[in-house]
Amino acid sequence: ANALLELRDLEVAFTIGKRTYPALQHITFQVGEKETVGIVGESGCGKSLTSLSVMGLLPETAAMTKGGIVLDGRPMEASSREGWSTVRGKQVSMIFQNPMSALNPLMPVGKQIAEMAMAHLSVSKPEAKRLAMDMMAKVGLSRVERLYNDYPHQLSGGMMQRIMIAMALICKPKLLIADEPTTALDVTIQAQILDLLRDLNESTGTAILFISHDLGVIREVCRRVIVMYAGTIVEDASVEEILDHPKHPYTAALLQSLPSADKRGRPLYTIPGRVPPITDRGAGCPFAGRCPSASDTCKSAAPALWQVGAQHRVRCHLYADGGRAV
Ligand code: SF4
Ligand code: MG
Repeated sequence: ANALLELRDLEVAFTIGKRTYPALQHITFQVGEKETVGIVGESGCGKSLTSLSVMGLLPETAAMTKGGIVLDGRPMEASSREGWSTVRGKQVSMIFQNPMSALNPLMPVGKQIAEMAMAHLSVSKPEAKRLAMDMMAKVGLSRVERLYNDYPHQLSGGMMQRIMIAMALICKPKLLIADEPTTALDVTIQAQILDLLRDLNESTGTAILFISHDLGVIREVCRRVIVMYAGTIVEDASVEEILDHPKHPYTAALLQSLPSADKRGRPLYTIPGRVPPITDRGAGCPFAGRCPSASDTCKSAAPALWQVGAQHRVRCHLYADGGRAV
């Protein structure tokens, strides 16, 4: 498949006082058309920063300092606000964990979807309303005529997330970025939203970049998964490979902390220690302080990314002999 999104050796750094601290480094990956790719990692690993880079929505204190982003064949200039705003909504859309913060509390939800359509597609007001109601039905909302005029506070969390998805998809973007879209929802509603995203990917062909701290959620939607730790990609493979043959010690630890039937009733494993903050990342492997396999080399030298299978990359010294550096 053609690459819809391509990140090439992307580096993003924050300026704090007079110093610059890289928060993302060596981020290289592609999302093909219609593909479903997950990014997993604990908070502070750079998942959200990666998705904000793709949307051209980096915070003021952060900047792309190296590498680049190519979207649908078009290199994105960090400096060109105009370039990003043409792409946003139309080519790439994003949904967040908290839909309430993204919706206008003073405008009926249906109208917000219709306005999105009017802003990006050259359609009349009645046409935009019709498209909005069609899309509301498509994301599984019922009684859409009535719901169209409801305000955000009248809706449940699950309904609001469906409204957000409708708004994100109204302009038929090629890529939908979903950043922890179900984290705030209860388990039943979460499962319904994951089903919906999977169905929409199949029926509309919209590629999905799905961000979550939870591998269990990612496996419901994605075929491929990128594991991030402390601002770098530490492993990248198909979901099955990651679940059945995790190679990076961090991925293995993430899997251990996943709930499963045979662990029922036992307290869940949590990885001891924490992700080093960007102001405190030394020369070695950033996972060294928490890694059961760490050696002296790990503390002094950053590991390279090794190609260990056709579609499998790992950034860890343990694989230096078995692979080819990429
Ligand atoms: Fe662990 Fe060393 Fe691999 Fe880092 S490079 S994950 S510290 S074994
Ligand atoms: Mg986040």
